[in-house]
Amino acid sequence: SSILAGDPVINWAGWLASFHQLRATCRLEGKVAIVTGGALGIGEAIVRAFVSHGATVVVADIDAAGGEALEAALGPEVCTYVHCDVSEEADVERAVGRTLERHGRLDVLCNNAGVLGRQTRGAKSIASLDAAEFDRVLRVNALGAALGMKHAARAMVPRRAGSIVSVASVAGVLGGLGPHAYTASKHALVGLTKNVACELGEHGIRVNCISPFGVATPMLVNAWRQGGDASSAPSQEEVEKMEEMVRGLATLKGPTLRAGDIAEAALFLASDESRYVSGHNLVVDGGVTTSRNVIG
Ligand code: NAD
Repeated sequence: SSILAGDPVINWAGWLASFHQLRATCRLEGKVAIVTGGALGIGEAIVRAFVSHGATVVVADIDAAGGEALEAALGPEVCTYVHCDVSEEADVERAVGRTLERHGRLDVLCNNAGVLGRQTRGAKSIASLDAAEFDRVLRVNALGAALGMKHAARAMVPRRAGSIVSVASVAGVLGGLGPHAYTASKHALVGLTKNVACELGEHGIRVNCISPFGVATPMLVNAWRQGGDASSAPSQEEVEKMEEMVRGLATLKGPTLRAGDIAEAALFLASDESRYVSGHNLVVDGGVTTSRNVIG
């Protein structure tokens, strides 16, 4: 009786379970993505998540050692490094061109590259603003993303499909959470996302951004350690201290914000699961921007 009644039910259940598992692990199957700043930190987590969900990824970064190591680790058939300073239009154009030559299409652009800007502890005030440094931060964080959108749009518009996901910051939502130039650049990126979403929506292209709170990446740990951009890998102890600090500030108690949480948000916005979401800023901050419990 079990052959006639029981087993077919069990087989169907097994088949359904594998089908759902397959769907859950192939959210970007067949898609081609560019991730800027993908060699390290949050960008690296995004690259790994995209590849593990079936995408072919081009890592556009200035860190050749990190980018090439990631290419070797994931395999050049699914992950390739291309040198690209996002603040240089020729580099961005070349990165998109290489992607099209090699893979024939571009489905997803993730504008993740960003810099916090050099700031020493005694030079945080507007009265000591360094004009050249302000310009550099805006060029990478805001212009860099705009250039990415420009060249990605050229590839996506003819196909009437694509998803652009930028990594902004809670410093693009509230004041008092970062240096002046960084805060200005991330507010610019959130605004740019909304504007470009209005324009590219007509062509079937979605444009969104993510605003993370603190993730203990080289950027954040180095800033806290010495007041500047990333220069060396943070120690395990420094990472743990940073994570504890972030946990203390979040309204949501318990979990630790990790780069993988930002990658999950990027996966959602990159994939067809978010097919009706555009012009949105997905805040991943454990409730920080909804409370008054911020650094100030
Ligand atoms: P990170 O410094 O650890 O990594 C940044 C990556 O971007 C590196 O691989 C670096 O080589 C690359 N990069 C820097 N300048 C570049 C340029 N001009 N062109 C191309 N690549 C460049 O930083 P992260 O913490 O992983 O930050 C990633 C993004 O997330 C940034 O946009 C940052 O502003 C944003 N963000 C980070 C946090 C955080 O707490 N770490 C919070 C909010 C937002």
